[in-house]
Amino acid sequence: MRFPQDTLDTLKERADVLTIIGDHVQLRRAGSRYKGLCPFHDEKTPSFTVDPERGQWFCFGCSTGGDLIAFYEQLHGGGFVAAVEALADRTSTPLARIEDDGDPLDDQPRQSRRRLTAALADAADWYHQQLLSTVGAPVRNYLKQRGFDRAEADRWQLGYAPDANGLVTHLRDAGYSDDELLAANLAAASERNAQLYDRFRGRLVFPVRDHIGTVLGFGGRIVPGIDDDRESRPKYLNTSETELYRKSKLLYGLDQAVADVRRNGRAIIVEGYTDVIALQQLGIPTAVATCGTAITADHVRLLTRLGAARAILAFDGDAAGRKAVERAFAAAAGTDLDLRVLPLPTGADPADWAATVGAEQAVAAIDGAVPAARWLIRTGLAAHDLALPEGRRAAAKTAIATLALIEDPVTRTEYLTYATDEGLSTELLHKVAADAGVALTVTATHGAARSVAGPVATGEFRKVRTRLEADVLWVALHQPELLPELWWDAIADDFTHPKLAQLFQVLDSAGGVGVPFDDVLAAAGSDEERTLLRRLLLRDAPHGLDGIMADQAVRSLLVPRIDRQIEQLTAQLSETRDAYEGLLATIQQLTNRRRELTAGPQRRR
Ligand code: ZN
Repeated sequence: MRFPQDTLDTLKERADVLTIIGDHVQLRRAGSRYKGLCPFHDEKTPSFTVDPERGQWFCFGCSTGGDLIAFYEQLHGGGFVAAVEALADRTSTPLARIEDDGDPLDDQPRQSRRRLTAALADAADWYHQQLLSTVGAPVRNYLKQRGFDRAEADRWQLGYAPDANGLVTHLRDAGYSDDELLAANLAAASERNAQLYDRFRGRLVFPVRDHIGTVLGFGGRIVPGIDDDRESRPKYLNTSETELYRKSKLLYGLDQAVADVRRNGRAIIVEGYTDVIALQQLGIPTAVATCGTAITADHVRLLTRLGAARAILAFDGDAAGRKAVERAFAAAAGTDLDLRVLPLPTGADPADWAATVGAEQAVAAIDGAVPAARWLIRTGLAAHDLALPEGRRAAAKTAIATLALIEDPVTRTEYLTYATDEGLSTELLHKVAADAGVALTVTATHGAARSVAGPVATGEFRKVRTRLEADVLWVALHQPELLPELWWDAIADDFTHPKLAQLFQVLDSAGGVGVPFDDVLAAAGSDEERTLLRRLLLRDAPHGLDGIMADQAVRSLLVPRIDRQIEQLTAQLSETRDAYEGLLATIQQLTNRRRELTAGPQRRR
């Protein structure tokens, strides 16, 4: 599947780069461009730059950039198609698609998906209104006791589902079909008479959103003393798996946490929705929760995609907590996610714990969370009596179960050592591992020693030269009218910096100066080149730029190549006899040319 070019063009035309990036970044005008704090890395001074005229952005801090689609890709981490769709939704642009065999694909599934998400958003709104109305007063009181005031209720769009069928009526009136209400799992059909009834009744409801903020389902819980007269009702009720609501892929609170997760490179995972709200309220903005499921490989992928290098599980240290850590460890096995454990006192929920120790202490504890492998091995050992052979054997089994999941052989060997340090013998571990068919040790073959020799620094000269070359390219891209006639003599060899030489070539193959930036981008052969181009595009104008300066810069650009030629030819002079005079004449010409170039600016009329 792909999108036709004209659809993408329309999308780019309709999407105003300042408005859309402005949803996420506070932008300030800086000359013809705008600057703000980068949403993709942690910074205090703005290096995130937007060029509204060309619809491009670039961050000089983390070297990312592109157009609006790239911005959405980076922001939501969902790839090109998802970014295009999100941008289309944001700008209300209809999307055409082409299937790989060339047939146009109809937009129907997306349309119906959009109706369902609209119904879900409408439901969240309606529940919230109920909470704020008279009927919701007891639930508001309950929330207040838990420390959640109106601001929190609004921020999380907390709601109340009264013990009646008000939502079905409301959504039918709003034009949604019964099929849609069922598909979104907002209603259920009675087995007796097939009548639709509200799925959530007599409950406090939490809208569950994806990381972009779209409501996909709800978590509902019985509030003590309110509508809890019927024993048969489960305390917790969540949206069933639907086409939209996939709990293995959702993390409650991630939409609110996503920017901080990216900035801090980590997420704190808890179990309860109120824990998420309370922790975020306390100043731990990266708290998220699973939706009544263990951590899955999908969760791991989602978090890594959004920029989390580490996930900290803040669970009760009881058996259920251990099980959750084991599952999460298995889900993260073989990925880059650094899984850590913050064991909480038995019976304590994270929010109470954090409130008791205070935010500062809580953050320190989160920073000091132990690697999951270590925690699993240690607690596994602690659960058995190592004085007894049976106890040692059982402990070795739990340790091996953990070690078996560690893919990196070096890390695995380290944790093997850890297990022996904690009191298990190497022999026993090897025996148990062999029985379980797990390979434990590796003959340490380290990778070939990497050369660390960077480019040879020749100090200040190189810096000045690089700046000059970049300045010249900047002028070629932004104000080609300032370039002197001499510019046409320039070739890639005039650029001593290899990346700038590469850019010159891209510019040249796009048709030289004065061509639209998109054409230049199109001429780029790699992402690296496109990144370099954007970096150049959004670089600040050379200080004091005018025609004279541009002329001088181009002259300076051309001189070193002539110097190199003179040097080479002079070296040849001593070796040749026949061509001596010819060489000498060429050297003479080059010397004259050099003199012209360095004589100072030509007068331009
Ligand atoms: Zn950045």
